[in-house]
Amino acid sequence: MKMMNGPKLETLLETIPRIQQRFLVKLNRLGLKTVKDLLWHFPFRYEDWREISTIAGLRAGDEKTIQGEVGEISLKRTPRKRMFITEALVSDETGSIRVLWFNQPYVRHSLQKGKLVSLAGKAVLYKNELVLQNPNYEILGIKKEASHTARLVPIYPETKGLTSKGIRYLIKPILESLEKIPEFIPADVLEELKLPEINSALRQIHLPQKGSEANLAKKRFSFQDLLLLQLKNAQEKAALKKERAPLIKYDLEEIKAALATLPFELTPSQKKALWEILQDLAKAHPMNRLLQGDVGSGKTIVAGIAALATARAPNNLQAVFMAPTEILARQHFQTLTKFFKNFDGGIGLLVAKETKVFYGDELETKITKQKFLKEVTAGKVKILVGTHALIQKGVEFKNLGFVVVDEQHRFGVKQRALLLRGARLIPHFLSMSATPIPRTLTMTVFGNLDLSIIKELPKGRREIITKIVAPENRPKAHAFIRGQVRRGRQVFVICPRIEKVEGTSWNEVKAVKEEYEKLAKNVFPDLRVAMLHGKLKSEEKAKIMSAFANLPAGKAGASADKSERIDILVTTSVVEVGVDVPNATIMMIEGAERFGLAQLYQFRGRVGRGEHQSFCFLFTDSKAQTTEERLKSLLTAKNGFELAEYDLAIRGPGEFLGEAQTGMPDIALKAIQNPELLKVAQEKAEEIIKKDPELKKYPTLKTRLNQFEKEIHLE
Ligand code: ADP
Ligand code: MG
Repeated sequence: MKMMNGPKLETLLETIPRIQQRFLVKLNRLGLKTVKDLLWHFPFRYEDWREISTIAGLRAGDEKTIQGEVGEISLKRTPRKRMFITEALVSDETGSIRVLWFNQPYVRHSLQKGKLVSLAGKAVLYKNELVLQNPNYEILGIKKEASHTARLVPIYPETKGLTSKGIRYLIKPILESLEKIPEFIPADVLEELKLPEINSALRQIHLPQKGSEANLAKKRFSFQDLLLLQLKNAQEKAALKKERAPLIKYDLEEIKAALATLPFELTPSQKKALWEILQDLAKAHPMNRLLQGDVGSGKTIVAGIAALATARAPNNLQAVFMAPTEILARQHFQTLTKFFKNFDGGIGLLVAKETKVFYGDELETKITKQKFLKEVTAGKVKILVGTHALIQKGVEFKNLGFVVVDEQHRFGVKQRALLLRGARLIPHFLSMSATPIPRTLTMTVFGNLDLSIIKELPKGRREIITKIVAPENRPKAHAFIRGQVRRGRQVFVICPRIEKVEGTSWNEVKAVKEEYEKLAKNVFPDLRVAMLHGKLKSEEKAKIMSAFANLPAGKAGASADKSERIDILVTTSVVEVGVDVPNATIMMIEGAERFGLAQLYQFRGRVGRGEHQSFCFLFTDSKAQTTEERLKSLLTAKNGFELAEYDLAIRGPGEFLGEAQTGMPDIALKAIQNPELLKVAQEKAEEIIKKDPELKKYPTLKTRLNQFEKEIHLE
C-alpha cells in the first residue's frame, strides 16, 4: 500500500490510509499526531529473539525463535477460571511442539492451519510436556523481513489497546516509505563522533540488526538535542557579546563602606560571587549570569550590593529587582531599605496595586502610581523593586543598567525585551535561584548563562531538626508545636499539593481551607491561626504576611499590634521561595510525599533563619517503603545539591524544571544520562558558533534550530 509520495515528517497520521481510526484514538492518547511524533516514539528496550532453534533442539527454559507450519489450531476455555487458551501444533522438519496462548483468543483468527509461522517465546514444561508459551507470532512471507520474531524486537511505551506489536506494525511501513530527511548535523561532526546519519539512525533505533546499532542510533538522537540546545546557548552568548551595555564604574571604596555597615560579614563565596558580578558590570557588554545558592545562603544582599553599585555609579544608572511574588517583592524592598538606610537615590516598590519610595530617612507611601512612574522615568528612583508589574506598559526607565531576577528559572527573551523598551543599551542581567540543580542540568538548562555559586551558609546557622511524623504521632507533634508557640515562636503549615482540576488551583485552596478549619477550630483553638493561598487578593496576602512577619502592615509607620500577630500560618506552596521570617521555627508539611525533595528542602529553608533552634515535621499518611526512603534522604543529605541529585534520579528533571519548560525535562534527562555527550555537544556547538555565528554555511542546521526553539518554548 505504498503511497505515490512517501509520508513526510509533518504528515498527519490521520491522513495515512493504513492507520485506522481505532489506532488513531490510541495514538492520540500517546500524544502522537504526526509521522514525526510516531517515529520519535522510541523503544525503551529490545527483546533479543535473534536465535532461531529447530523444534527438536528446544529445551525447557529456552527463549528462542522457531519457525514451522501450523497444524491443528483451536480455541478452548478452561472450565474453572473461564480462561481462553489458543492451542496450536507447530512442526518443522525436526519435530512438533504444542504452542499455547493464554487469554489471547484473537490468535485463533490470525493463524490458520497450513501457514508458515515464526514464533518467539519461552519453552516451558506444562503438564509434563514441553510447550511454547505466549510467543510473539507472525506469518512468514516470502520476501518479508520479520518484525516481531527472529530479530531484536523493539519494545515501546504502550497504551491500553496499543501494544508494542501494534506500534511496530504502524512504524515499519512508514519507515520504509518515508521521504528522506535532510541531515542537519554537520558531516564532520557525525564522522568524528562515529554517529549514524539521521535516516539510518531512525531505522536503526526501530529496527536494529545489532545492539550496538541501536545504541549508536539512540546516542545520535540524544546528541542532536543536546547539540541544538547548546547551539542555542552559544548563539545567545555570542549575540550578547556583540551588544553594548552601560559601563558601571563602581567605586570599590564605597562598596567596602556599604559592606561595613551591614550587621554581618559576607561569607567567602558571597564575596567571590559579588566580585564576579562587579567585574562583569564594569564591562561594555551585557552580563548574563546566574547566582545559585542554597536557601538562606544570602543571595539578596549580594545582588543588593551590585544594585547599589549601579545606583551610585557616576553615569546615573538605575537597577531593577524583580521577584516572582508580591510577598517576595515586599520583602526585598524591606531588606534593601533596611540595609541601605543611608542611600537617598530612591528605592521604589512597584506591585500591582501599590507603589512607594524610600529616600534615605523618608518613606513616601502616599505617592500615586502615576507620579511614581514619572519619577522612575525621570531617573529619580534608582533602585526599583517589584513583581511582573515592572514589565508592564507605562514603566519606562531613564537609564537602566542592571536587572536582578529572583527565583525565576529562565527569564524569557520576551520579558527581557519588555524591560528593554526604549533602552539604548542592554542592561546587565543577574538571575538568582535557590533551586539546587546538579551541574549537568545547570549546563543544559542555563547553558546561556555564566555561573556564580554561593556554596556555604552564613556561620552560626543551626541544623534544622527534621522528623518524619507517622499519623499516630500527630497529637504529640501538635503538643510540641503548642509548646513552641507558648515560647513565642511561629509555625508554617504547608498543605499538600493536589493535582490540578481543569487548570485551576481550586483544590489546593480547598485543602488549605480544610486544614485551616481543622487547626483553628479543633487542634489549636487557643492560638492565632491564619491562612494564605494564591486566590486571596494581593492586599490581603500582604496583610497576612506582614502580620506573620510582625512587620508594619500596609500603612507607613503603623507598628504591628501584638494581638494581630499570627502564630500559625497555614499555606499553599506560595511561601516556597524566599520568604524570610526569622522567628518562625517550625515548618510542618502535610502530605509530604506529594512534594519533590528539592521542594521540601526549599520549604524547610523557610525556618532556621534566626537564633532559635528550628524544626521541620514531615507528615505523611503513605506507608510505602519508597516514600519513607525518599523522605529520609531529607534527614541525611548534606546539602541541596545532594538532594537534587537524588530527586533527579528517582523523579526525573520535570520536577526541577516544571511544566512550563516544554521539552526541556526530556533533554535534561538525556544530559544527565550522558554527561560526556553533553560536554562534547557544548564543545561542538561553541566551535560551530565561533566559526559561523549566523550559521550561514549550515542552512539545514539553521532551519532545524529555529524549529527547535519553538518546540521547547524558549521564547
Ligand atoms: P537567599 O539566598 O535564600 O535569598 P537571603 O538573601 O534571604 O537568602 O538571606 C537569608 C538571611 O541571611 C537574611 O536574613 C540575610 O540578611 C542573612 N544573611 C545574608 N548574608 C549573611 C551573612 N554573610 N551572615 C549572616 N547572615 C547573612
Ligand atoms: Mg531569596
